[in-house]
Amino acid sequence: MWDELLTPMEEVAEHMHVWAIAEVEEGMLAPISYELTGAARDLADLLGVRAEAVLIGENVSGLAEELIWRGADTVYVLEDQALGQYRTQAYLRILADLINEKRPEIVLFGATDVGNDLAPRLAQHLDTGLLPDCTTLEVDQAERILLGTRLTHDGGLMETNACPQKRPQMATVRIGAVEPFPPNESRTGELDRIVVAVAEGEIRAQVLESVKEESRPALGEAKVVVAGGRGLGSAESFQLLEELAKELGGAVGASRGAFDEGWVPKQYWVGGAGGTAVAPDLYIACGISGAIQHYLGIKEARFIVAINSDPRAPIFKVADVGIVADLHKVLPALIDELRAMRS
Ligand SMILES: Cc1cc2nc3c(=O)[nH]c(=O)nc-3n(C[C@H](O)[C@H](O)[C@H](O)COP(=O)(O)OP(=O)(O)OC[C@H]3O[C@@H](n4cnc5c(N)ncnc54)[C@H](O)[C@@H]3O)c2cc1C
Repeated sequence: MWDELLTPMEEVAEHMHVWAIAEVEEGMLAPISYELTGAARDLADLLGVRAEAVLIGENVSGLAEELIWRGADTVYVLEDQALGQYRTQAYLRILADLINEKRPEIVLFGATDVGNDLAPRLAQHLDTGLLPDCTTLEVDQAERILLGTRLTHDGGLMETNACPQKRPQMATVRIGAVEPFPPNESRTGELDRIVVAVAEGEIRAQVLESVKEESRPALGEAKVVVAGGRGLGSAESFQLLEELAKELGGAVGASRGAFDEGWVPKQYWVGGAGGTAVAPDLYIACGISGAIQHYLGIKEARFIVAINSDPRAPIFKVADVGIVADLHKVLPALIDELRAMRS
């Protein structure tokens, strides 16, 4: 199928193993690290090679064991004082050096702020390709080619990309696209400390101050999601959802209807076709009709509450509790009630 596009065999043979680039947040492994390690494990088993994780930061070696429990055979640990906070130039240089030395066959990044910044630059630096924003990863075992599928055209089309000519093959993987392995504490593996020295002078960016956003769970990871649709009537009405989400410790989402109206940015968009798929314990849909594309993104929610003024709205067919009412009356009453319970 790939014919002339294929990399010469001698070059392919030089590259082995599947890598997951772990991310650390506030001294802990970010959930994407487990997902990438699981994906690397699956691909490595299909290709008959090792799954390896790369851990970069300051004093992070204590986290390596968890990556082994989640499927890594080897964890490369790159520690330096200058690596405590992500800075493009430093991470780019040390990862490029490590890849050039160890020659992995596949390198997986999260489609996160860090991964989206680092992976394309690294691909350019290493003169290879990048399969972006993958929701599915497969492999052509005969030709050892990674196939990364992503949604395009607002979720209306799926596109599969490959990089048959260059090594390593690199991909960014969407948060939540891959189910991580549960930790297996009896798994053993190798910890390989790589000596790195990063001089402050080689990094142009300096972090002067870090300002933490008000603590809110990310939409894809929240236990409670309060989402609004076109029925909210205005961008201002989203303030009601913000207040309710704050009371419940949840995240705010939106239908594509609300996004199309320009009331919220795209990262709020919930859905199975373009939006973020969510799986909270509680999903509260306010003024959302319940179109199939929206439902596909919430079908893993454990309990759905729908507030809609139209008793025939399709959302009521999938809701565990339905409230047929004007949301502008229900939401303020609900927020008041929750505040009263707390005080
Ligand atoms: C290729 C493609 C991909 C798509 N992907 C997604 C996706 O990922 N996610 C997604 O959400 N959509 C997606 N859509 C769009 C989807 O088909 C619907 O158009 C969209 O979900 C509708 O948004 P809505 O429910 O907010 O708006 P509407 O369908 O207009 O519903 C508004 C609801 O609010 C109710 N309402 C009005 N006023 C009030 C009030 N005062 N109080 C209470 N209720 C009230 C109404 O009864 C109505 O049910 C996609 C469409 C296409 C073609």
